[in-house]
Amino acid sequence: MHHSMLDQALTRLEDAAQHLHLDSDVLEKLKYPRETTKTRLLIRMDDGSRKSFMAWRCRYDDTRGPTKGGIRFHPDSTMDEVETLAFWMTFKCAVMNLPYGGGKGAVQVDPHTLSKAELERLSRAYMQAFSQIIGPDRDIPAPDVYTNSMIMGWMADEYASIVGRVSPAVITGKPIALGGSLGRDDATARGGFYLVRHLEQELGLKPGATVAIQGFGNAGSFMARLMAGVGYKIVAVSDSRGAIHAPDGLDVAALVAAKAKGPVTAMANGSTIHAIDPDTIVGVECDVLVPAALEDLIHEGNADTVKASVVVELANGPITPEADAILASKGVVVLPDILANAGGVTVSYFEWVQNRQGYYWTLDEIHTRLKAIMETEGRAIWVLAKDRGITVRQAAYVHALGRLAEAIEAHGTQQFFAS
Ligand code: GLU
Repeated sequence: MHHSMLDQALTRLEDAAQHLHLDSDVLEKLKYPRETTKTRLLIRMDDGSRKSFMAWRCRYDDTRGPTKGGIRFHPDSTMDEVETLAFWMTFKCAVMNLPYGGGKGAVQVDPHTLSKAELERLSRAYMQAFSQIIGPDRDIPAPDVYTNSMIMGWMADEYASIVGRVSPAVITGKPIALGGSLGRDDATARGGFYLVRHLEQELGLKPGATVAIQGFGNAGSFMARLMAGVGYKIVAVSDSRGAIHAPDGLDVAALVAAKAKGPVTAMANGSTIHAIDPDTIVGVECDVLVPAALEDLIHEGNADTVKASVVVELANGPITPEADAILASKGVVVLPDILANAGGVTVSYFEWVQNRQGYYWTLDEIHTRLKAIMETEGRAIWVLAKDRGITVRQAAYVHALGRLAEAIEAHGTQQFFAS
């Protein structure tokens, strides 16, 4: 039988439901996406021709507030993936107690093949197509894989022109000049970093420990800087084009500079830094493994090769349920995506709050607030995992599901649906 990605993800929900003795009504509400809109975006290319791209926006669940989640531009995006990512956002926002439901969007495109002008037309076309679904009190997009603040700025601008007024809270991850928040750029990595630092003792880690990072985009490169900044040793990194291994540690500043010009493999020198097969980074000798790219990196076929004692999921969904079981039996602790990478959406929430109040916080205020939330929710989940003898992922789902169930109950039997 063929299992969709969403079916796989739902096994985590069903598992958590058993730990909570939940009313079946709650599961019935959470096991299907509420609405997914699909469209084909038709844009003018620079050479005058027209080209079309599949695009989706999923509002998975809005029990706890307007749906929230990024927009991904990726050639392999599918509706199943969008719905799965929106499901994860629902639980991520509940884990962090943000007043949001979960959503996600995508365009099936390799943005690297587009000119800047084409990318802008595509971004504006996305907002035009979904402007009825999106809104500051309804569905609030943000960046995800291969989208960035420039794209969010174009989308905010397009939305303003559609509704005829400035409306910065419609989208987060904007450029600072258009109402973006300080600290949104490194927030995903910083949240994971604060979590690791807070749990260092429990995890048996301390500065000097070795770290391997799979993916050197926004999340991975900031994580390398933050971890190296307090003395962790970055021994391996990969990007979409290759991987490098340096048992004595990499100079992260040099690596970031090299990555600005080309692939990370440009750092290989044949003596202290070796190019390795990117598929082997999962099994590299290290204390902390940080998946920071796409889904399904660690699966049934390679979970057994993991040498790290801690895996920090900065990517969404990098470990399959089968691999989860293998890692648990090996005693590997996984800090799960819906907690470990939730710093991104948390600072998105701060951005939305600042946009609505029209008063902006300092970088220090952003960091202090993010750290407090990561530590509060991270500690609660850690204690729950220890008390119940379950994995940190199971505890994170139980923690989130308790909040979701309470909100579903509070809505009453005739739940209002904003449509
Ligand atoms: N795309 C990010 C995530 O997966 C951020 C979402 C947001 O900021 O709304 O969590």
